[in-house]
Amino acid sequence: MTKGSINVSVENIFPLIKKFLYSDHEIFLRELISNATDATLKLKHLTTIGEAKVEYGNPKIEVKADKEKNTLTIIDQGIGMTAEEVEKYINQVAFSGAEEFLEKYKDSAKDSGIIGHFGLGFYSAFMVADKVEIISKSYKENTKAVHWTCDGSPQFTLEETDTKTDRGTEIILHISEDSKEFLDEYRIKELLAKYNKFMPVPIKFGTKTVTLPLPEGAAEDAKPETEEVDNIINNPTPAWTIAPSDLTEADYTKFYHELYPMQYEEPLFHIHLNVDYPFNLTGILFFPKLGNNLNIEKDKIQLYQNQVFITDEVKGIVPDFLMLLRGVIDSPDIPLNVSRSYLQADGAVKKISSYITKKVADKMVSLINENREDYEQKWNDIKIVIEYGMISEDKFFEKSDKFALYPSTDGKYYLWNELDEKIKPIQTDKDGNLIILYASNVDEQYSYIQTAKDKGYEVLLLDSPIVPHLIQKLESAKEKVQFVRVDADHVNNLIKKDEPIISKLNDTEKESLKKEIEESVNNQKFTVQLEDLASDDEPFIITQPEFMRRMKDMQATGGGGMFGMGNFPEMYNLVVNSNSNFASELLKIENSETKKANIQYALDLAKLSQNLLKGKELTDFIQKSYQNLKK
Ligand code: ADP
Ligand code: MG
Repeated sequence: MTKGSINVSVENIFPLIKKFLYSDHEIFLRELISNATDATLKLKHLTTIGEAKVEYGNPKIEVKADKEKNTLTIIDQGIGMTAEEVEKYINQVAFSGAEEFLEKYKDSAKDSGIIGHFGLGFYSAFMVADKVEIISKSYKENTKAVHWTCDGSPQFTLEETDTKTDRGTEIILHISEDSKEFLDEYRIKELLAKYNKFMPVPIKFGTKTVTLPLPEGAAEDAKPETEEVDNIINNPTPAWTIAPSDLTEADYTKFYHELYPMQYEEPLFHIHLNVDYPFNLTGILFFPKLGNNLNIEKDKIQLYQNQVFITDEVKGIVPDFLMLLRGVIDSPDIPLNVSRSYLQADGAVKKISSYITKKVADKMVSLINENREDYEQKWNDIKIVIEYGMISEDKFFEKSDKFALYPSTDGKYYLWNELDEKIKPIQTDKDGNLIILYASNVDEQYSYIQTAKDKGYEVLLLDSPIVPHLIQKLESAKEKVQFVRVDADHVNNLIKKDEPIISKLNDTEKESLKKEIEESVNNQKFTVQLEDLASDDEPFIITQPEFMRRMKDMQATGGGGMFGMGNFPEMYNLVVNSNSNFASELLKIENSETKKANIQYALDLAKLSQNLLKGKELTDFIQKSYQNLKK
């Protein structure tokens, strides 16, 4: 037997491991199963290239908990280790990693992946165990099994043993008093499901009973036989590791539900990521039905490293707008085990991010080209991702003309060029600006939409919460384009043209009309604006100037440099049609009370048409109307 002191310059690393990685105790199992997987895959490789002359077979990894003995054991059938290898890989190498770790722990120890990165993987066992044993037998011919023990001090023992005759490694953890939870079946299952669900080697945890099919010709009341079989908890070949050409739509959907067992809705479509140069990355992204929902808290994209779950905190790796999606990204090249700020500055990560962005843009182009109708139908559920992407990623924006749709209130969908072509002839104003009219709510802006349509204008329906930002972006990127909401002004003013104006009233009359109205309405809220409109147009129209309203909307969804500017007040214009009969009649009324009442009544009607008459005002208005009826 060899006794020795583990090669480490720092007195005792274990208290440090415990202290600094406390919150991440549970990752020890992931680390040990990763090692078992590595050992198995190494053997597979060696047998394929003829280096190892052993039968690879169907190896699995077994996890066993023994509550009586307080042990948790991880058994693999991989390459195993000789005494020299244990000496080299466990006693020495691991701790050179540890030293490095000690130098760096100050900044980043809280980061869950750090252990693996610094080669502390195996030693994470000491976070939950007082004593750890390794019993290992190498695949190499004429080697004896070895037994290593360590009780958490730098002292270890290493001796040959006859107890193990089959190839592979057993790691036995003597679980410490404060980590008993890791002997609990449900806790273990939970961890296996979280970290190992898609690992490439089958993982056995316990057994389960299965019912065998009845043999042919069996009696009708025959009892089916049952059998105890290994309970395999993982799917070693998840969809993202399979070539897209070998997968059906149903396979993707099945995988989606495997990934998110609590998610009952079907995804809209998927994007299979597959790249091996200049970095390695595979994965599948799913577009869920989002509608106008910006809630991204649950069922997030999961990040894997060679099929080992790392995290679902993908900020910095996946562009923000794609965090609305679901799915899996697997890359051995992402330096997952370092701190987040480092990650964001990492060149490889930046490349990955722009690759994914490009891939999503390409997918959109092919989807719309393959089946425009289907794409249009899905638009409402995907638009928030696309629009968010257009706002936040310039590269994505540049390509968006090919796949971003602009729906009309009539249910038509235009690509940018189609829209441009369609509306240019009548929606260009006198200064050559293309004016794009839009509504954000068909019911609330109904009358404005109608009047605009009567004029032959096309009205878009842009209703996602980030539209104000999108519009801002489009206006600055496209030349001579302005977006104006249909209720921003009287229809004649929405798109200003050089048309002669005929006034029924002279300037003095107009001035007194304006003054009288201003005195009657709450001028805090309404700015009175006289306009010479057609005589049969409505006398009063309430509008919300585009600029102020848009700023307010942008403030509501955040961003856009709007913070700290205070709250924008609700601002309305009261457009008075000075050519209307109502205006001329109003001027003739002598009694100032009657005049006021008429102005008030017309204002109420205008409010009513924009859904602004509510509560007491509405009740008063209805009462007033009944009284007028009686008269
Ligand atoms: P890493 O996995 O990053 O190399 P670890 O501390 O997890 O660091 O493991 C150290 C080394 O110990 C491994 O590289 C491997 O050589 C060896 N090892 C650990 N577990 C096993 C195992 N189950 N079978 C064979 N070798 C193992
Ligand atoms: Mg490891």
